[in-house]
Amino acid sequence: SKECGRGTFSYFDDRMNAKAAERLVLHNRLRQALGRDELSLAYQPQVNLRSGRIFGAEALLRWTPRDGEPVSPARFIPVAEESGLILPIGEWVIQEAFREARRWRDAGLQLQLGINVSGLQIYRSDLVATLAAVQRDTGVPPGMIEIELTESTLMQDVHAAREVLDALKRAGYGLAIDDFGTGYSSLAYLKRFPLNKLKIDRSFVTDVCTNAEDRAIACAIIQIARSLNRRVIAEGVETAEQAALLRRHGCHEGQGYLFGRPMAAQELRERLGTPATN
Ligand code: C2E
Ligand code: CA
Ligand code: CA
Ligand code: CA
Repeated sequence: SKECGRGTFSYFDDRMNAKAAERLVLHNRLRQALGRDELSLAYQPQVNLRSGRIFGAEALLRWTPRDGEPVSPARFIPVAEESGLILPIGEWVIQEAFREARRWRDAGLQLQLGINVSGLQIYRSDLVATLAAVQRDTGVPPGMIEIELTESTLMQDVHAAREVLDALKRAGYGLAIDDFGTGYSSLAYLKRFPLNKLKIDRSFVTDVCTNAEDRAIACAIIQIARSLNRRVIAEGVETAEQAALLRRHGCHEGQGYLFGRPMAAQELRERLGTPATN
């Protein structure tokens, strides 16, 4: 009935308002986070599945408000993207990550560093210029840095994305496609982007040992990567069985709790046996 319909609407309206209100509160707190020094980067090791050696790490953003609990990136990154705050925050991430890469280099560590970049940074900022400026300031060789972009980011505007990626490639950066398999990219685009690496999304890795379909998808991604001469890394590797199966099927690299949780910069440096500096 009409009444029922109206009731339903106002129920949804209230829920949407509550959601919008929560986002607004989050947005206002996040806007101050940079100035208040509440953001940090955690570093998660990445290993070569054959040798077991750590060859790199991914920088993951952390937000711990002074007056509260840490907020998960799954909650605040969408807010940052919607509001445009991801632009200043993303720039901070790049600066901070390059500073850490510089410390690695100074300590004689041969490590690669993955940096996540969102669509707004590709399409609404001059990412190439930002990276060039930070690279100049820190002296980090671009080959140490791998830029991670999601499939859906690349698909928003294939032409524009390709121009940016080509420029990054020319500058010497590594390029990885993140969460591979979850977007809706045409495989044909893969060869058009100068990507070095595919990252198999965790959703296919979690049950790779027990679910035949997940295994088929993970193996298909590995095959595609290998036949196109790209590297392939599995994310969310939590057990030795998963790592062994992926390695057996030709996956080059792995990342996940089995090898290490995202950790403070200093902790990773200590784990790699370098003297503690800051
Ligand atoms: P992502 O790029 O796919 O990052 C991997 C996520 O999986 C991280 O979540 C990591 O902590 C988690 N993870 C790693 N290994 C395991 C595992 O073995 N098991 C499980 N269950 N989870 C694992 P996190 O740190 O919460 O980040 C979530 C997402 O937020 C990231 O997903 C990325 O899309 C985004 N993000 C993080 N940092 C940045 C950043 O600096 N810039 C941008 N634009 N996005 C970022
Ligand atoms: Ca990533
Ligand atoms: Ca990922
Ligand atoms: Ca993922």
